[in-house]
Amino acid sequence: MTKKEKLEVLYEETCDCMNCKLCTTRKNYVFGEGSPDAKIMFIGEAPGREEDEIGKPFVGRSGKLLTGIIEKGMQIKRDDVYISNIVKCRPTINLEGKTDRAPEKDEINNCCFILEKQIEIIKPKVIVTLGNPATKFILNTKQGITKIHGIFGEYKNIKVMPIYHPSYILRNGGEKSPLKKDVWEDIKKVLTYLKEI
Ligand code: SF4
Repeated sequence: MTKKEKLEVLYEETCDCMNCKLCTTRKNYVFGEGSPDAKIMFIGEAPGREEDEIGKPFVGRSGKLLTGIIEKGMQIKRDDVYISNIVKCRPTINLEGKTDRAPEKDEINNCCFILEKQIEIIKPKVIVTLGNPATKFILNTKQGITKIHGIFGEYKNIKVMPIYHPSYILRNGGEKSPLKKDVWEDIKKVLTYLKEI
């Protein structure tokens, strides 16, 4: 089977998942998207409201910022990387679904097998974790993103670069945020690493 076919099988096997309570409030299961042959995989924490509506990862304001980092900054087409989250259904604070929240431990524990399988199939050269929950899960660390962004870690022999989550940048000045410079410095390390291997 090709990587594409393996991802399709995984999607079919998991798209009706009811392993945790988030299945009761989701509108759409957000599996992830991009190239099955991607060298870089971006991993965020969970779908938000817009992602839940559309069924695709990073399509809202954060997604626009992430797409800018990939396409304008890295000069790579968004379709050539792979983008996903540690949980595949949107965590909300209440049943009205008005407010996003970070995924809880039990939700991550129940869902992570899907992401682990995606990584195993795609075999990226670099994983870029976006923000605290994704970084803590992938690197199995308690350290916060402000301390470890820009420092390569490793997940099953794959290099991992933690960077700030786009939504954190939006909450801290947006386009003019000084955090954008940090993100760019961190991303440059990924580009240098990919050139060297
Ligand atoms: S978040 Fe993950 S574990 Fe929970 S229902 Fe959705 S797919 Fe299943």
